[in-house]
Amino acid sequence: NETYEEMRPLLSRVEAQQRQLMEQNRELARAENIRREFSANVSHEMKTPLQVISGYAELLAGGKIPQKDAERFARIILTESANMTDLINDVLVLSRIDDPVMENAGKEEVELLSLSHEIVTRFLPLAEKQSVSIRCLGSSVVVDGNKSLLDQLVSNLLSNALKYSDPDGEVVVLVGKSIAPPDSEGTPMAYIRVRDNGCGIPLEEQHKIFERFYRVDKSRSKESGGTGLGLAIAKHAAVFHNGTISVESSVGRGSVFTVRIPTEHEG
Ligand code: ADP
Repeated sequence: NETYEEMRPLLSRVEAQQRQLMEQNRELARAENIRREFSANVSHEMKTPLQVISGYAELLAGGKIPQKDAERFARIILTESANMTDLINDVLVLSRIDDPVMENAGKEEVELLSLSHEIVTRFLPLAEKQSVSIRCLGSSVVVDGNKSLLDQLVSNLLSNALKYSDPDGEVVVLVGKSIAPPDSEGTPMAYIRVRDNGCGIPLEEQHKIFERFYRVDKSRSKESGGTGLGLAIAKHAAVFHNGTISVESSVGRGSVFTVRIPTEHEG
């Protein structure tokens, strides 16, 4: 009848709104689950160094430890505290990226080649210590971005490249711009590529390494002070800039991480 016909558009609008609300609820539940899992993981990751710290501190407090052992215990305590500081810093960075306020955080023009040069220079002493050569090349490219996040992104990739390199390894950072590649829907993309010839990542693990706390080789990661959050932060930072991050890697030969960020800037 006529009244029902008149109400039909209204009914379908209400139904559509209901579907949208249900989808939003599901989304919220998913986000809540991820948050809960993350908090559980963070607590677990903090418990281990804390147990080590309090264990050795208790031994030292007993006052009966020979000087030589006491120094060794103190160094272990220092290393574990440094690991905890790294973890806390990474968790803070992640929560900052997750914060909706951050979405509107001031973006500025950032030139990626000089930023990468700066970061490589910062890593030179560490690379030298490991006898790994490290260089940065390419062409200048400007994006609208958050400089400290971009710095963190490249630093995390470089830190990994060094961490998973063998002595006499080689790390190269390549910066440039690709003119409207097929996957960019016509937008030119700035790219930063970090290549190492280190241990590589098995194919079946490659899609998991961007998850929080996922580690391929737990002992190597921990030994070198890894928090398991570096690539999760890198991915968040890429997505924050409407970009992507990807990996190509082969075991025993090395890895290449590529970040792409849209750029409207000329040159
Ligand atoms: P971590 O602090 O453990 O390095 P990340 O999130 O930075 O955590 O990396 C996750 C895992 O991915 C690492 O534990 C490591 O197994 C693997 N990985 C990351 N970068 C590299 C690389 N350049 N070469 C080999 N493996 C890597």
